[in-house]
Amino acid sequence: MADTRVRIAPSPTGPLHIGTARTALFNALYARHHGGTFLLRLEDTDVARSTLAFERDILEGLHWLGITWDEGPDAAGEGDFGPYAPYRQMQRLDRYKAAADDLVARDLAYPCFCTPEELDADRKAQEAARLPPRYVGRCATLTADEQAQKRAAGLPAALRFRVPPGVIEIDDAVRGRVEIDTSNLGGDFVIVRGDGTPLYHFTVVVDDAAMQITHVIRGEDHLSNTPKHILLFRALGHPEPVFAHLPLILNADRTKMSKRKSQTAVSDYIAQGFIREALVNYLALLGWSTGTEEEILSFDELARRFDLDHVQKGGAVFDRERLEWINGQWIRKLEDEDLIERLLPFLEADHAAGRIDRTPGADEVRAVLPMIRERLPVLGAVGDLIGFLWLDDLELDPETVVPKRWDAATTADALSAARAVIADVGAVSFESEELEPPLRALAEARGWKAGDLFMAIRVAVTGRTATPPLFDTLVALGPERTLARLDSAAAAVQRLAEGGPA
Ligand code: GLU
Repeated sequence: MADTRVRIAPSPTGPLHIGTARTALFNALYARHHGGTFLLRLEDTDVARSTLAFERDILEGLHWLGITWDEGPDAAGEGDFGPYAPYRQMQRLDRYKAAADDLVARDLAYPCFCTPEELDADRKAQEAARLPPRYVGRCATLTADEQAQKRAAGLPAALRFRVPPGVIEIDDAVRGRVEIDTSNLGGDFVIVRGDGTPLYHFTVVVDDAAMQITHVIRGEDHLSNTPKHILLFRALGHPEPVFAHLPLILNADRTKMSKRKSQTAVSDYIAQGFIREALVNYLALLGWSTGTEEEILSFDELARRFDLDHVQKGGAVFDRERLEWINGQWIRKLEDEDLIERLLPFLEADHAAGRIDRTPGADEVRAVLPMIRERLPVLGAVGDLIGFLWLDDLELDPETVVPKRWDAATTADALSAARAVIADVGAVSFESEELEPPLRALAEARGWKAGDLFMAIRVAVTGRTATPPLFDTLVALGPERTLARLDSAAAAVQRLAEGGPA
């Protein structure tokens, strides 16, 4: 059996999409599992929409995910490596031309001189007759003389592939047997435009044949193209690869995943602080399952288990909560130094954006890791969670310090009392185990619910209602800042109680 060869064939007409990343991953896992070769080919023939920036986003995004390929372009705008180079379609135009000439020579394709107006009129007539659109075959039977005359008249000629009658059977590795009658393909289809540029259906097959692709693993949206591709493989005299069409990725409302309803660009997930291990893990489970309860798996573990038989047929709903959960699990597994290194850029960005007043050093982040590690769904949440540590002045709305069941006067009183207790502890040793008992005793003595007192303190010193555990938070702030923040919050709440300006 031929060596397994699979590919990802992105078009650089948009940023790296979650769906493309998933398809790339499934191909990479399949190749790894079977000891095969995975290549990347850039389908850049849509010159108007392809850009170097998108190419870069795609290649760098895949590199970031740790998905590597054995052949293809490595960096945007640079050369490629591998025995079937070039791997950019715009550098393979001579090959499509040669393949097209060959099909014409064997009368499997023919020049079509129909003008856009003629084709438009055909379409309208079919619409009026409630018929599906279909090429009427006007140029299918032109004689050599007729063709020569049209050429002499300067008419541009597209090339159309002759669709033979019959039923195409696809034994899709995911979907099982699919049969499509070629009469449903819309008639003879264009493979090369009048201006000489080749179309996707044609280039993809010429390249998959030339690059000896054994398995075409791609999104289900391409299933309807597959009969055309199979006809072209046959016409080119090349064995058909195995096809495996992956389930669509769906928005939460089960419509096809779209930019409008979901975040689709991989770069946006990176920017929010999803980590590569988690994204790879989650994408692998988007339409495939291990068949076991195990969920947290590295690339190597995924590759060991991955095969096409556990790919599901039905659409895969993109569940951001599950992704965040998996991300949190992976964040917990990171080594301290690794996590610090990954967090610092987010804190630098918070600083640059003015959300914190300085970027902490690695040591400061290391000191708070035990408090935050289990509370980070994404790295980008770090500033929200603990950024109050690196603020010079807390801007506080005194209303937010007052617990629901309390009024401002009680709150001001409680903060002052707590301040005294905390100052006493601080004079001895400022540890979280030392802080909790006297504050609980204070609440009890005054008849306050401990939860209310703790919430008032929490908001007073952090400005937030959700923080890491309170006493650890106080220790991280240190006695001076804790007391200073309590003082200023107590004063502000006192002004509120007196009805004056905060
Ligand atoms: N360039 C095509 C795309 O991005 C490739 C499809 C295929 O894998 O055949 O959708």
